Amino acid sequence: FALYLAKQNFRGTAVVFSAEHEAEINEQGRIQQALRAADFENEMYLVFQPMVDADTNGISAYEALARWESPTLGLVPPAVFIRAAERAGIIGRLTETLMRKALVAAKSWPDHIRLSVNLSTRDVVSNKTVDALLDIIAESGVDPARLDIEVTETAVMRNFALAAENIRRLAERGIGIALDDFGTGHSSLSYVHKLPLTKIKIDRGFIVDIATNELSRSIVKTIVDLSRNIGCVCVVEGMETHEQMVALRALGCRMMQGYYFARPQRLEDTLAYRAVSDTIVNAPIRKTG
Ligand code: C2E
Ligand code: MG
Ligand code: MG
Ligand code: MG
Repeated sequence: FALYLAKQNFRGTAVVFSAEHEAEINEQGRIQQALRAADFENEMYLVFQPMVDADTNGISAYEALARWESPTLGLVPPAVFIRAAERAGIIGRLTETLMRKALVAAKSWPDHIRLSVNLSTRDVVSNKTVDALLDIIAESGVDPARLDIEVTETAVMRNFALAAENIRRLAERGIGIALDDFGTGHSSLSYVHKLPLTKIKIDRGFIVDIATNELSRSIVKTIVDLSRNIGCVCVVEGMETHEQMVALRALGCRMMQGYYFARPQRLEDTLAYRAVSDTIVNAPIRKTG
């Protein structure tokens, strides 16, 4: 038999949870419990995905992406455990651990390769977390000008005043600010205009059908032009095929990230990939129309 839980939400409307939803809630509970007990230093690690400059085929930056190998739950996807860490109230401590690890990794790359680190919604509006991150960055010995912080539109719009203040504090130290998943949130261009952005990352959703869909092409072209007009670097996310690359190049896209170039890699493998790409960088630059 199926078990149903009925709850009143804040408007007094009855919300019915099916057994499936209940299982999901239990799953969240188990994840939060495992997270609270987790040894972040040992169970959390980072993989790195390059952003490639298609003009030179050189690596412009690596984005640090979190992975959690729980001894009890196995590999949990970041979208799941980041949300669980927010709900469990331990995201700040997690982000600080990840930032430390990312900065150590950046030291093993040449100085011209930038590092991108994602902040969660909660991080962006936490003065305490941003204070701690600024200390960690200062103590790391990595030039803050080599670092980009990735924030999503959704995170920023949730509490614009607080987010904007924290973003400004990061930017004042010379840290770059990347707007992640651009085009998926409820962005207001006037808000975008008020943030000290240095990079805009076009969400994968617009790239999937870029080779065949005229509307996706128009949208991407608009974002590329917007980025240029406000002095931002534009990066496309989630590029998987040669056809997509050709279409994106024709729209003026230069910075690209996606499985076509590389999947997120362990730190040891970023060094191997770098050796390969350096030989490409030194080769004559292809003419790309
Ligand atoms: P994101 O920051 O937008 O990262 C891009 C995601 O797309 C990554 O998934 C990446 O592995 C995936 N991806 C890259 N290229 C391709 C492609 O060509 N095709 C497809 N299908 N996917 C591609 P991942 O690592 O599972 O991360 C998912 C999300 O979890 C991230 O989205 C980010 O929002 C969050 N996340 C990951 N690491 C962290 C972290 O350290 N801190 C925070 N706060 N969030 C993180
Ligand atoms: Mg990101
Ligand atoms: Mg993204
Ligand atoms: Mg995305």
